[in-house]
Amino acid sequence: MIQAKKSLGQNFLKDENIIGKIVNSLFATEDDLVIEIGPGTGALTRHLYKRYPNFVAIELDERAEEVLKLEMPDLEIIHSDVLKVDFKSLRKKENQRIFVIGNIPYYITSPILFHVFDQAVEITQSVLMMQLEVAQRLAADKRTKDYGILTVQTQFFSQADFLFKVPRQVFHPVPNVDSAVVSFKMNQGLNAAIVPGFKKVVRMAFNQRRKKLSNALKGLGVELSPAEQFLDKRAEELTVDDFIELTRLLGFN
Ligand code: SAM
Repeated sequence: MIQAKKSLGQNFLKDENIIGKIVNSLFATEDDLVIEIGPGTGALTRHLYKRYPNFVAIELDERAEEVLKLEMPDLEIIHSDVLKVDFKSLRKKENQRIFVIGNIPYYITSPILFHVFDQAVEITQSVLMMQLEVAQRLAADKRTKDYGILTVQTQFFSQADFLFKVPRQVFHPVPNVDSAVVSFKMNQGLNAAIVPGFKKVVRMAFNQRRKKLSNALKGLGVELSPAEQFLDKRAEELTVDDFIELTRLLGFN
């Protein structure tokens, strides 16, 4: 065992029942590449290692790496910040499907989600455990304060399913929030050409969420009049389909 480091968001899972439920939520097969974010001391890892011949774990903490290697000498571990890893570069063969799983460090939940979405076209499914509050934001309704960039990107890039809640008591050390496990089935039919423009428009719209889009989108530096039907609204009033339409009308595709 290693002493948990708060700065690395280390809360280790200790409930075998929950561990089993998380691992079983992945619909990968033996042919697929399975990537774990933050194996820590191996709660999920030891099951994934047995089940998937093409398995890679990405861990920032060298101490965890040492512990894992003792138990699983053949485990492939990438010692890196996950935010710097290009998942497709880990493929063992061309066109291999990619699955991403992890009890992710909570201090970088949103950056990790954005990192996974940025690579959505390469990923088939991702199963991630995160703070309950963030999981709820992913499924927020329009016109609520939780509805934001994360909600819109989640629904644009994936079909997200809230799987189950996890009480804080099953971690060591016990964090001060509850958690939840979410499965993201990535949208395979995504039109890659629209992605950069879509992200730019959504970000700019929510950066000034109190303002009407006629004002909030001025910084895009493009003629807004083709999107007249949306200009009197605020970001939180638009659905994902509205944002796609808005992106098209503004010529970002
Ligand atoms: N998977 C283990 C479990 O469920 O018990 C550990 C989960 S713990 C919440 C998060 C793990 O992510 C820790 O092992 C931590 O060292 C690792 N981690 C933190 N920041 C990271 C980063 N930027 N890149 C990769 N791993 C990171």
